[in-house]
Parts: sequence; structure tokens; C-alpha cells
Amino acid sequence: MIKATYQQLIQRIVHLSGLTIGEIERRIEAKKAKLSGLISSIGAAQVVAAELGISFEKQRFKIIDMLIGMKKISVIGKVIETYPTRKYRRAEHEGEIGSFLLADDGSSIRVVLWDTNHIDMIRNGIIKKDIVIEIKNADVRGTTIREIHLSSNAKIELSDKEIKNVKIIKDKLPSKKISEFKSGEKINVRAHIVQIFQPNFFLTCPECGMKISYEGDKAVCMKHGAIAPKKRALVSLVIDDGTENIRAVGFNEIILKLFKLEDKEVEKLQDSSFFLNKKQDLLGSEIIFSGRVRQNVMFNRNEFILNNIEEAKPGDIIEDLNR
Ligand SMILES: [Zn+2]
Repeated sequence: MIKATYQQLIQRIVHLSGLTIGEIERRIEAKKAKLSGLISSIGAAQVVAAELGISFEKQRFKIIDMLIGMKKISVIGKVIETYPTRKYRRAEHEGEIGSFLLADDGSSIRVVLWDTNHIDMIRNGIIKKDIVIEIKNADVRGTTIREIHLSSNAKIELSDKEIKNVKIIKDKLPSKKISEFKSGEKINVRAHIVQIFQPNFFLTCPECGMKISYEGDKAVCMKHGAIAPKKRALVSLVIDDGTENIRAVGFNEIILKLFKLEDKEVEKLQDSSFFLNKKQDLLGSEIIFSGRVRQNVMFNRNEFILNNIEEAKPGDIIEDLNR
């Protein structure tokens, strides 16, 4: 299903059908009445669009108009930045994804490549900073942040269209109260630290990030064999925004930011008195936490996996109150 604000969807239908906003809204209301309120406004709008023969497939969109759930769409944009490829594992399958940032004159979006031939276009320098490309047959995916995803059915072609003024506007994570957190969501929340546990240190494979084991005195990864292990740290916090509290978990970069440490100093946190001093400073402080809600099956509770933290500034509070 297409996730969109009702207004965005209406505007799209108006644009594609040639009917007026009033007419579209009348049809949506009629549809809702007929279904005795069993359908949301967005659901009803989608039914109306389908009845008008409007399909969002195979159409070219401006980035700003793209909605999560759209399939087989086209877009023309300028490559702003390419990112290093990343390995992923899903069950038995191991693969690689490539990505880059694309922008047009209205907005920007991350493009994710799942096909080796597409990823090779970055490696071979065909897709590079400042070139203009047309992407065809791509899907818009995401939970809250929109991304363009390309499977092997998608196409990337060089375009001779000129895009002079690009706008880099990244989607923002939505803010939510902890009591409203649902597993799988990416969220921002402003909350107080009410508990911090001393970080755990463990050894991982530098290739895949998985925990390693020892065979004699040799560090071994299940997948990559003998490797030189990399030390990683994990910190657990309890954060509270007044509606509820949740366990938050952060890794290396979060730990550096939270405890205001240099990379080399992290291991000092293994020292209990050093940690307790830091902990006293941090308890009660208010921070904007960004991350993903994940269900911890073992403890049957939600956890918040952090990917960024920012100090809460007075300005943020004002913005929040105006919402
Ligand atoms: Zn490994």
C-alpha cells in the first residue's frame, strides 16, 4: 500500500485524472459512505484512483512526489554522492548492495542497488558524482524514510538533460513518544537518560561484524576463517520521555558521542570508577535519540537500536511544542 499523506495523494489524483479537487473529494466521501466508514480516507482515495484507471506505474516522478509503495516508476536526477558498497546476509544468502544519493531541482533521495550489474556501474565509474541519469522501473521503499530500490528489472541510463540547481533535502525521521513505539519503525525521540549500564566489550570479525570464537589462540570467524579480530563495544541505556521508558542500545560511534571520548579512549570504560564518573554526568541529561525499534524476542520487549544521538537544544523544544 502507498504510504502518503492524504493531501499528497489527492494532488496526484487531481494531476493524473484532470478532475478538480472538489470532484475527487466528493468521490472519496461517497466511497467512504458506501463502505460505512470501514475504510480510511487514504484507502478510499486509492480505490477512487483505481476506478479512474490511474496507475502510478511507469510514470516519471519528481523526487518530492514519490511515495513509499510506488512501483515501476521513473526518475531523472543528478548523482550527488556515491557510497561504498555494503555486504548483507539474509538466511544463507550473502550479497552486496550499492547506493548513491540522487537529487533533482526539488529534493533528494537515496538510491539502493541490489543487482551486480548496477553496482558495477559505480565501480566502473559510469555512475559518478555530477552525472545526470534516468532510472526506470524502480520501486519506492522504506518505512519512514523514502528510498528508491532497483532490482535487476530496473534500468539506469545516462541522460543528456541538464539539472542546474539541485536541492538536497533528506527525509527526516518522524518524532514519536516512546509509548507509541512499534517494532520496525525508524524514529526520533527526545528523552532523558535514566539508567546507563557499563559497556560490554566483545571481539568481532572485521569482515562481517559477527562474534568470533577461538581455536587455540587463533581467532576464527565461522564464515571468514582465521582473522585479526576487532574489538567492539555495546552500551545499554534506559531512556524515558515521560510517556514510558525503553531500553536503548548503542555501538561504538554512539558510545564515543555519548561519553565524549576519542576512539582510543573507549577501553577506559572497562574501568569501573572511570565509567561511574561519566555515568553521574550523563544521568538525567536530555538527548535526541534516533534509531530503529526492534523486538527483543528473548525478553519479549521492544528495544531501541540507536544510530545517532544529538544534544537537545532549546530550539528543538520550541519546534516540538509547535507541532
Ligand atoms: Zn566474518
